[in-house]
Amino acid sequence: MKKIAVSACLLGHKVRYDGQEKGIPQLMEGLAAEEVLPLCPEVLGGLPIPRAPAERTCSGCVKTKEGQDVTAAFKEGAQKALHLCQAQGVTTVLLKERSPSCGVHERYDGRFCGQRIPGAGVFTELLRAEGIKVYSEEELPEFFRELSVQDAARASHHAEKENEMITRLEQLKEVSLAQPAVLAVAAAEDEAVIEAVLRAKKLGLVQPLLFGEAEKIRALLGDEEGVEVVGCESAEMAAHEACRAASEGRADMILKGLLETKTLLKQVLNKEFTLRQSPVLSHVMIYDVPTYHKLLLTTDGGMVAYPTLEQKKELVKNAVAVGHCLGIERPKVAALCAVEKVNEKMPCTLDARDLVLAQQSGELSGCILQGPLALDNAISKEAAKHKGLTGEVVGDADVLLVPSIEAGNMLGKSLSYFAGAVNAGIIMGARVPILLVSRADTAEAKLYSILLGALVSRKKA
Ligand code: SF4
Repeated sequence: MKKIAVSACLLGHKVRYDGQEKGIPQLMEGLAAEEVLPLCPEVLGGLPIPRAPAERTCSGCVKTKEGQDVTAAFKEGAQKALHLCQAQGVTTVLLKERSPSCGVHERYDGRFCGQRIPGAGVFTELLRAEGIKVYSEEELPEFFRELSVQDAARASHHAEKENEMITRLEQLKEVSLAQPAVLAVAAAEDEAVIEAVLRAKKLGLVQPLLFGEAEKIRALLGDEEGVEVVGCESAEMAAHEACRAASEGRADMILKGLLETKTLLKQVLNKEFTLRQSPVLSHVMIYDVPTYHKLLLTTDGGMVAYPTLEQKKELVKNAVAVGHCLGIERPKVAALCAVEKVNEKMPCTLDARDLVLAQQSGELSGCILQGPLALDNAISKEAAKHKGLTGEVVGDADVLLVPSIEAGNMLGKSLSYFAGAVNAGIIMGARVPILLVSRADTAEAKLYSILLGALVSRKKA
């Protein structure tokens, strides 16, 4: 919504020198959906209603008919009105023509004989000096045309932001969503979780729906308003109700609070609900590594311990879906092994070969897959060059598919502890994203996981 300032008298406020107004019904109707700031610079300058009529002379000072110089009050009011416009981000203003404060193209010449001269009022001059666009009430068609141009520009900026590729986790804070994603939190009576949820809410990306011990949750919320709390007698019940909310379409994602992961996942897989979407639920971690030129997705260091070839295909699909939500058109997937050549004695190299075939046959779509690749060749063009490796993925991988939970776990912890990476995590494969933040996660990591969940839930919807 735009912020527009308008002369208060044109909006029907009785602020004129004679205590009257000059309201224009067509203007008030046209601005009904906008956020309008009514301003009367003369009243802001401390002048009373009614007051002596005044005109701005050729020399620029303002005098009443009796000759009293009121320039100082007019200037003070104009300054105050300008500050209000700046504080509220006003870029377009509509003012009353020929007023000594608000005149846009003309004013009276100061002799009180009805003679008009070209020139602007005190407030208009200040606005123009600050680059704020000013229209008079005699230019309503031009004024409304300008507003629609601003609307179009805003819509196109919004669309650009929507398609922007996210290369650093920090960008998640600036994501623009048509409306906040509803976040169901199971067993929300946890200070760190509530803190992260409220930070995400403050960014306008999340609307919390909290399940758990109502009294404790409300105490943690303090005087925060607009958060629904649903009392639950046990952690099991909180998980059940959070999953029910997602299943019934009342929540867009689920966050684990103060309960065991298995308690939550049991309800996610509960046949009473229809949350399971893919044959495999898998964990995707997103690392923002300071030394890498973009985000790095890894899977699976948390859910599927020793994936079979068929499970690996699902892991790729789930990670690629996250990549798409981050704006990566065709995520580059590296099937990681210890070597780059297929070796019968190393089963994961055989899987890598078969995954490449699956991608080439169209079974795995929306991505580019290469493997087997060792870690260095997947993320460093220099390393790949030494080995004589080529391909679109080498040195530029978006997704690292690891062969086992141990490899994923160690890779992730190395990135965090040795390389100072910040991370976010998400479980994919259900109808809504599932977020498991752990106590060891930093406050920033918890927030990023929630923001990632909001983005994925909205992009998938
Ligand atoms: S100063 Fe401007 S807003 Fe106030 S009465 Fe005059 S024209 Fe209207």
